[in-house]
Amino acid sequence: MGLPAAAAPSVTVPTAQGQKCTTVQDAPTSGWTSYPELQRQLTRLESTSQGRVSVDSIGTTHRGRDILAARVGTGPKVIIVTGAIHGNERTGVEAQLSLLHRLSTGSPATEAILEEVTLVSIPMLNPDGLELNRRVNDIAWADTVDQFPQLAGAPPAWYYRGGSSSVSPGYDLNRDFHPDLDYVPQPGDLPGTQEGPGFYLNAESQALRDLYVDLQGEFGRVDAVVDLHHMGPCNVQTGGERDGRQVTVSVDYPPLGVNDGAAYLEEYPLLDQDKSRRYALAVMDGITDSYGAQSPLAGVVRYFHPDEREYAGQGRSAFALNGSASVLFEVRGQTQSFGQKQMGMLNKTVETGLLSLLKAMADGSVEDKDGDDFFDYPDYGWDTREGD
Ligand SMILES: [Zn+2]
Repeated sequence: MGLPAAAAPSVTVPTAQGQKCTTVQDAPTSGWTSYPELQRQLTRLESTSQGRVSVDSIGTTHRGRDILAARVGTGPKVIIVTGAIHGNERTGVEAQLSLLHRLSTGSPATEAILEEVTLVSIPMLNPDGLELNRRVNDIAWADTVDQFPQLAGAPPAWYYRGGSSSVSPGYDLNRDFHPDLDYVPQPGDLPGTQEGPGFYLNAESQALRDLYVDLQGEFGRVDAVVDLHHMGPCNVQTGGERDGRQVTVSVDYPPLGVNDGAAYLEEYPLLDQDKSRRYALAVMDGITDSYGAQSPLAGVVRYFHPDEREYAGQGRSAFALNGSASVLFEVRGQTQSFGQKQMGMLNKTVETGLLSLLKAMADGSVEDKDGDDFFDYPDYGWDTREGD
């Protein structure tokens, strides 16, 4: 018999209407899919799907783990979905595994989607970070310099975390992307800035970039890229039918600075922020319609995004600058600090959002959305604009 797991340090915060939310540092990971479990599940899925699902390694992490991608569907529209680029943000793993199982069954409803859409799903982009239950991956700057000798003497990238005697170093991988897909790291570009592009210093970001380029070659373009994350646990939506209730999931288009990233258009003319908002709406409307606007599963809001917010080094931004619609999910809370029931609800909401987007791509309805309707969704107190 093992001892009970030590309780993680936590703070319970009261919110509106008597709800409580708990912030947990280093939340425990039982109940969530580990990297070895992901390997087993995807292998089994591939073998039982009668050829519908194919699984490949698209790269190898610094710690030697395969970055696994599952492909399903034969349609001409292509979408990439990624989860756990931040290793302690795990609903994206669970929601994608559940979605892949659903799509592998050969039911008439899923076949109608898969005739129009090809999904490439990367449930766990950062398995090294996930196995350490932390945001960053697991590699030291010296190892990066070994791979890019031209960087000897340059300062580390600003999104590198140097670690300590007890914590190994690593990178925030969601700052390691550059819209120039042929970019090669240059010492004069380092350390870079929060607003600017990243440098493709890591196997994980390189693997996703290479996959994206391959799919561009195969399909002519990548229609959509979706990235699945977690946000803080204590946000309460302001406005809408669930005013004052906790956020379930917030959704966003890429943060590329004022006037919808106008400064980027000369160099990256394929950027289309309204298109990203149409795809985001397919997610948001799909969740709302599936559960009803009052449901706790349907607390869908706009993620923090003042007009000037700018993160060109995020994967979603780099791919949007290459013409893809780009949608971010931010689920409330980190790992399972809410217990099994709420964890299951959040996973379900994410899966429903993904499935809704696939359906809207398949039947073309995503293109009939009015991107301005995105702004009709509530926020959680950060948007002080006058209502319109
Ligand atoms: Zn994240």
